[in-house]
Amino acid sequence: MFAAGVALRVPMKVKRAAKYGFCSGVRIADLKVKRFAAKGGRGAILGQVVHNERVVEEMERLGVRTIHDIAAVEEPTIVFSAHGVPPSFHDAAKDRGLDVLDTTCKFVYDIHREANKALVEGYHLVFIGDPKHREVIGYTHDLDPSRYHIVSKITEAETIDWSAYERVMVFYQTTLNADEFEDVVQAIERRASRVQRGDTICYATKENQDAARVLAEDPEVDVIIVIGGKKSANTKHLWEICREAKPAYLVQGAEDIDRAWLADASVVGLTAGSSTPDYVIDEVEQVLAAVER
Ligand code: SF4
Repeated sequence: MFAAGVALRVPMKVKRAAKYGFCSGVRIADLKVKRFAAKGGRGAILGQVVHNERVVEEMERLGVRTIHDIAAVEEPTIVFSAHGVPPSFHDAAKDRGLDVLDTTCKFVYDIHREANKALVEGYHLVFIGDPKHREVIGYTHDLDPSRYHIVSKITEAETIDWSAYERVMVFYQTTLNADEFEDVVQAIERRASRVQRGDTICYATKENQDAARVLAEDPEVDVIIVIGGKKSANTKHLWEICREAKPAYLVQGAEDIDRAWLADASVVGLTAGSSTPDYVIDEVEQVLAAVER
């Protein structure tokens, strides 16, 4: 029995999205680097192994530091991340006498292969994506600039003379939501005589996005916490999906949680980008669950 007028405080309910966190490609990359380090391997990762600062710090503790130029490698091994690299980087590593630990995701390699095939067949290539993203750099860095375009906005698609190309093949950066670029691709299709679309959106990203949408629309959920690295494009995208329906906050870890966000909440939704390790998600959940409502 409780005294009259004494409010009963109960822990916050936390609801995880049905799909969230590490995709298979990142999980495998993470494992490969950890196994390498556990066997005493000394290496340097070109760019972040995944876009998550906690993972980068963990790798550095294991003795595998992050570098941004092949010339900066002092260790015997260079690690290529799940996003992949231009093929010429493999040659550059070989020329420097480095061993390569290649953690490129197999879906990224599929796109490299399909793009090469399309080039041989005479297609002009279009990559829908961010020209600064390492995955897109991996596809395009070694190509003749006259053989491809990188497009992400309809204004760009409308200014290019697509009629100059007999056949066009469209590839999407794996982590994009194809629906959001439909107008861009349709602008190309209206202007070019033959356009073929490659099926290159990664199912893992889409599954996390679909599950985030379901979570955001769940009437029981009051607030959503999205966990991921500052530079992770797919995490930012999950946050954008969530905040369309609910107050949503992006955090890198439990230390970023502001209790003021939860002041009126009874149920907190939780999701995470595909580069967020399980232990970070567990830490955030523990902190949220300890909040009383
Ligand atoms: S998001 Fe998809 S393509 Fe990218 S690393 Fe993960 S599994 Fe591979």
